[in-house]
Amino acid sequence: MKILVPVKRVIDYNVKPRVKMDGTGVDLTNVKMSMNPFDEIAVEEAIRLKEKGVATEVVAVSIGVQKAQDTLRTALAMGADRAILIMTDQEVEPLAVAKLLKAVMDEEAPGLVILGKQAIDDDSNQTGQMLAALSGRPQGTFASKIEVSGDRVSVTREVDGGLETVSLALPAIVTTDLRLNEPRYASLPNIMKAKSKPLAQKTPGDYGVDIAPRLTTLKVVEPAKRQAGIKVGSVDELVAKLKEMGVAA
Ligand code: AMP
Repeated sequence: MKILVPVKRVIDYNVKPRVKMDGTGVDLTNVKMSMNPFDEIAVEEAIRLKEKGVATEVVAVSIGVQKAQDTLRTALAMGADRAILIMTDQEVEPLAVAKLLKAVMDEEAPGLVILGKQAIDDDSNQTGQMLAALSGRPQGTFASKIEVSGDRVSVTREVDGGLETVSLALPAIVTTDLRLNEPRYASLPNIMKAKSKPLAQKTPGDYGVDIAPRLTTLKVVEPAKRQAGIKVGSVDELVAKLKEMGVAA
């Protein structure tokens, strides 16, 4: 079974984003970029399934700028077998990403597609679900455990107040949650080896997909600054303050 893992190049999760002066978006100049953390978890899970003998090949795919090659090389260094870069300088919205991934699915016929549950830059949490709808395949979102058995995959999902386990017919779409696994670091020899693994270069046009944006960003603003705290001398004073602020009755 082949596993397809879409990986997105995003602003590194340790970086504090700066909003552009004109409020049109986040300033990405000279900012460290990395693989979306949920996608690292997806790559790790795919590699573990290969190590268990469940999968035979892991293919990483990214849609984005030329530099997204680095993200794919990271996936290859972790253990993916080959990669596909669908190159564009345009911002690509989740629906366009899902359409491109559907086209890749048609070409590659994977048994499983493992995506992150959300990209930490746009926080959309849409692509996996849209891909499931476009491909007509079952979906298991927010996975904290994945077990493949025969032609089915059982996915344990993190839902409010507990865990739900669903059984899906393969091919299926799964999205990862934080507790699924702890991704490995790529070793230096594997980073070197990854340089010679195959990386195909494509464009959205190769798949006949229109990636024109459908949304207009009106404005992006920094989160409101947190107010400094105040010290109170007693519980009575605390209650009085809370009442004053309209927090307590
Ligand atoms: P989103 O719906 O944007 O929150 O993204 C959910 C998941 O879809 C991500 O964790 C990735 O696995 C995948 N994805 C989104 N955008 C891209 C992209 N440009 N290239 C590859 N995978 C993507």
